[in-house]
Amino acid sequence: MCGIVGYIGDKKAYPILIKGLSRLEYRGYDSAGVALIQDGKILNVYKRQGKVQDLVDFANDFSTEGTVGIGHTRWATHGEPNDVNAHPHFSGDENIVLVHNGIIENYEIIKKELTKRGHEFKTETDTEVLVHLIEEIKENSQVSIEEAVRMALKEVHGAYAIVLISKDSPDKIIAARKSSPLVIGLGEDEYYVASDATPIVEYTKNVVYLEDEQIAIVDRKNGLRIISIGNTEVSPYVQELEMQLEELEKGGYDHFMLKEIYEQPRAIHDSFRGRLNAAESWIALGGIRDYENQIANADRIVIIACGTSWHAGLVGEYLIEDLARIPVEVEYASEFRYRNPIIRPNDVVIAISQSGETADTLAALKMAKEEGATLLGIVNVVGSSISRVTDAGSYTHAGPEIGVASTKAFTTQVTILAMMAMLLAKKRGTINQTRFQNLLNEMEAIPEKIEYLLTSNDYIKGIADNYKDAANALFLGRGSCFPIALEGALKLKEISYIHAEGYPAAEMKHGPIALIDENMPVFVIATQGPNYEKVVSNIQEVKARKGKIIAIVTKGDTIVKDIADHYIEIPETDELLVPILATVPFQLISYHIAVMRGCNVDQPRNLAKSVTVE
Ligand code: GLU
Repeated sequence: MCGIVGYIGDKKAYPILIKGLSRLEYRGYDSAGVALIQDGKILNVYKRQGKVQDLVDFANDFSTEGTVGIGHTRWATHGEPNDVNAHPHFSGDENIVLVHNGIIENYEIIKKELTKRGHEFKTETDTEVLVHLIEEIKENSQVSIEEAVRMALKEVHGAYAIVLISKDSPDKIIAARKSSPLVIGLGEDEYYVASDATPIVEYTKNVVYLEDEQIAIVDRKNGLRIISIGNTEVSPYVQELEMQLEELEKGGYDHFMLKEIYEQPRAIHDSFRGRLNAAESWIALGGIRDYENQIANADRIVIIACGTSWHAGLVGEYLIEDLARIPVEVEYASEFRYRNPIIRPNDVVIAISQSGETADTLAALKMAKEEGATLLGIVNVVGSSISRVTDAGSYTHAGPEIGVASTKAFTTQVTILAMMAMLLAKKRGTINQTRFQNLLNEMEAIPEKIEYLLTSNDYIKGIADNYKDAANALFLGRGSCFPIALEGALKLKEISYIHAEGYPAAEMKHGPIALIDENMPVFVIATQGPNYEKVVSNIQEVKARKGKIIAIVTKGDTIVKDIADHYIEIPETDELLVPILATVPFQLISYHIAVMRGCNVDQPRNLAKSVTVE
């Protein structure tokens, strides 16, 4: 994954790079490093295992002068996360220095060749091979640095976003991408390069998103030039950023995750604002309007996603099949793309991804495109790769999500899917007006109901305290709340490192029940609905084996409250919208348990937010 940042202009580069890296730290935090050109001749490189703060502490003792520089925060794929493998990486003559996000898949073959020709490598990374290759081409062919980069990139397979500087061309930054994102910020006589716009937004709103197989040459005097790897000139398309700086700060909360949990009423409201109106009884998704007929008449809908977005897809399956009666399949993008799936031109493929850059999802989409399917995207980051590859789609409008564990991105994805299901049902005539109106009313009421739920935060924290030392946990749900059990388990394991599993409540008997004893907390969604009595029976089965029950119930419930060890009430809503509300208590439980266990909630170990490698 990795975060990349670069600067060239009149200002001192180092503070800009450090601030940018801190913003990008959600993308990886195994190590951090910077390279700076001082007085147009000295190339200083500082890199350290650990967080950006470790780099800052280390670099304190050295010169950080220079108005050109690049930086990197790593999520290791090749080579352990130590000081040596940290980026930036040098060429053999230490003239060129490069940062990289992605994987050079044929690095071993290239490394062997280069080694035969006398190159010596200091690191275990795939990245170092690329910078040596550029160096060799530059020397042998006596070409400019940008031409050497272009020629080298023709030889590599895999995914990359790279940024490099060199002593020979001290007033230039070269950047290139294929499958990993890069955005260039255009200031006044200054330029920024970064993996996303968060390091750029406070300096300029004018940006150019680099496309796949494009190389940007940023020259202090001559400005920005873009060429393709095939060597054709590309005229840069300048866009204006919508992002606000305040969205990137913690705003008084202890962690981004808590802030983002609390932002959900606003985020969900933004997801449906202008797209739904209960008083006037309409729903409209502008982004998919031109494809509505195609979707409504599709043979089937295939949802592809990874991680939390995959859970949102599972909820979408329940909603779309139930309301619109279109067959839906939900696939892990990483499996879908490698199992020779059957995709037909009358299929609609929906990709769900917070960042819009998830490598597997993007690759699966490209595959579906070749088979002629209609491609839709549900993404949060405006202008991201998935939004550009798809035919149509809906942005979630959740605002930047910085906490690595997804919260508001998930509930807004479900909101969009619910709206799609309602829209398709209306179009296909599979919903009656009373239900449709009820769903519209209930959707509009969701933000307020979450506000109410959030007032139980202290009470939920109290419940969390009982289970902070658990070694295992089980999450159960049925119907459209089964995916919420999966999401609850994922949230707990990713930020608190407690082993947790999500199961359909009735499936528990087929295995997990063997794990239940007096030390096992079992979190159950037991809200009112057609499955209520069945879930109550499942709860009894847990209690009979001395398991501890923490139940999410509908406000006013009397039966489960009496049996459960703890309960959390959620406001009543349409059965199909319960998944959105039931998610919130699980987010808070996981958050509090992780904080009590002293875990780094916003940056859990081994994880990164935007998974741009396979
Ligand atoms: N493959 C490079 C490394 O391991 C970059 C990793 C990444 O982008 O996540 O250092």
